[in-house]
Amino acid sequence: FQRIVLASRPHRSVLPENFRLETAAVPELKSGEVLVRNHYLSLDPYMRGRMSEAKSYAASQPLDETMIGGTAGEVVASNNPKFAVGDMVVGMMGWAEMGVDDGRNLRKVDTTHVPLSAYLGAVGMPGMTAWYGLNQIIAPKAGETVVVTAASGAVGSVVGQLAKQHGCRAVGIAGGPEKCAYVVDELGFDACVDYKAGNLKADLLAAAPNGIDGIFENVGGEVFDRALSQTNAFARIALCGLISGYNGEETPLRNARFLLTNRISLRGFIVTEHMEFWPQGLGELGMLVGTGKLKYRESVAPNLAAAPEAFIGLLQGRNFGKQLVKLI
Ligand code: NDP
Repeated sequence: FQRIVLASRPHRSVLPENFRLETAAVPELKSGEVLVRNHYLSLDPYMRGRMSEAKSYAASQPLDETMIGGTAGEVVASNNPKFAVGDMVVGMMGWAEMGVDDGRNLRKVDTTHVPLSAYLGAVGMPGMTAWYGLNQIIAPKAGETVVVTAASGAVGSVVGQLAKQHGCRAVGIAGGPEKCAYVVDELGFDACVDYKAGNLKADLLAAAPNGIDGIFENVGGEVFDRALSQTNAFARIALCGLISGYNGEETPLRNARFLLTNRISLRGFIVTEHMEFWPQGLGELGMLVGTGKLKYRESVAPNLAAAPEAFIGLLQGRNFGKQLVKLI
């Protein structure tokens, strides 16, 4: 089977040569082990951090080993009584067509009402990130205004739709007219500001005329700065990501004084440190997707060899919705 390993660490921007496609042999299954054929691979911004050696909340990805990553696939052989051939599972098998796991990192999923790929998006880690940051940090009340950046993406799209269900005004910020139209017309946000249109200040004032009570921040830099300057007293900020700085760019905060004058609570979080909320959150998200009340969109790369370019595109905003790689 084929896999992609980290060949070298990126200096700033990620380049195709940082990856290497290899052929590996299917290992003999030991007692308790499960062989999974991956159908989908999830590409996520956090992988950029793992490619660096810099100290962070998680260990860095070793060179010459399979790139880390979430996967969804099918059990094709099992020496583990908890898993049967044909079970659909979500795991962390990395950028590879197949993988072996002792079962501890695998979760069986039901694809009757929720498509397998959604377990890597709206009903997976990104959806859970939205659920946690919105419900546990912003904790919005009906009538409040919630702003979310990278609004058309895997996390942002869920944030705004959940905010609407709380009775809030949901305002997205996204790059380009196509993404903004989708956020309003398909996802049902009240407004979406195109930060690339060059009129951010006036457009955000128009989109959030009553000020901002909650910011779900995925990007950082100028866009975050602008939203911060339009907060109301006692606004809450869920600091989820700073993607505009993942290649080493600075993400300055010029309007920090509003943190003080508006008595703002800001909390950064890592969703995998809050596993106790996952059963409840994933249950709710699965119900919403299964009943058509939570919409999502996917960008799908066609095969494993296309994964590096798709990942590079994700870090440049070329994806439109959850970025996946389809392996079967
Ligand atoms: P997305 O599907 O949202 O894709 C990333 C998007 O970021 C791009 O499509 C692009 O959208 C946007 N973006 C904005 N500014 C930039 C920029 N300067 N360079 C590149 N892209 C930019 O990804 P996810 O939904 O998976 O992740 C969203 C954020 O959530 C990320 O910051 C990620 O790190 C974070 N995250 C945090 C977690 C946590 O536990 N804290 C867990 C999961 C994700 P546009 O074209 O609209 O600009």
